Amino acid sequence: MKVLVGIKRVVDYNVRIKVRSDGSGVETDGVKMSVNPFDEIALEEALRMREAGHASEVIVVSVGGDECQQQLRTGLAMGADRAIQVRPEGEVQPLTVARILLAIAQREQPGLVLLGKQAIDDDCNQTGQMLAALWDRPQATFASRLELAGEAARVTREVDAGLETIEVDLPAVVTVDLRLNEPRFVKLPDIMKAKRKPLEVIEFGDLEIAPDPSMAVSHHAPPPPRARGIMVEDTAQLVAELKNRGLL
Ligand code: AMP
Repeated sequence: MKVLVGIKRVVDYNVRIKVRSDGSGVETDGVKMSVNPFDEIALEEALRMREAGHASEVIVVSVGGDECQQQLRTGLAMGADRAIQVRPEGEVQPLTVARILLAIAQREQPGLVLLGKQAIDDDCNQTGQMLAALWDRPQATFASRLELAGEAARVTREVDAGLETIEVDLPAVVTVDLRLNEPRFVKLPDIMKAKRKPLEVIEFGDLEIAPDPSMAVSHHAPPPPRARGIMVEDTAQLVAELKNRGLL
């Protein structure tokens, strides 16, 4: 069984995000970029499946400009067998990515597509669900435990009420949550080895998908700066200040 893993290049989670002064997006010049943390967890799970003999090949896919090859190489260094970059045309949004992943899934025929529950840059939490709908296959989102059971996968999901366990027929789309596993560190020899692993580049135009102009991001703005707080002397002053602000 092949496992397809979606990898998105995002601003590293440790970086303090700055919106560009012209509102055209967030600053990425000189900023550390990484694999979306949830995608690392998805890849780790795929690698463990292969190591346990449940998967034959792990393929990482990224939709993005050539700079995302860096993150694909990280995926290969972690242990993926090969990588696919799809060079998009125009803005990349969850629906576009889902349609691209569908085209790749139809070509590769994976038993499982593993994605992050969300990308930490857009926080959309949409791609996996859209892919499952387009592919007409089952989905299990927010996975914190994943077991393969023959032609099905048993997935424990983190939901508001606690944990829910469902069984989905394969092929399926599973999106992963934080507690599923702890991704491995990449070792230097693996980085060297990754340079020789196959990385295929596909042009968006070659996938015969019509571009989707239905949504456009018009502007980015930072949150309004927070007013400075004040130190109160005692409870009476605290109550007075809250009353002043109409909060009590
Ligand atoms: P989102 O719906 O944008 O929050 O993304 C959910 C998941 O879809 C991510 O964690 C990735 O696994 C996958 N994904 C989103 N965008 C891309 C992309 N440009 N390339 C590859 N995978 C992506």
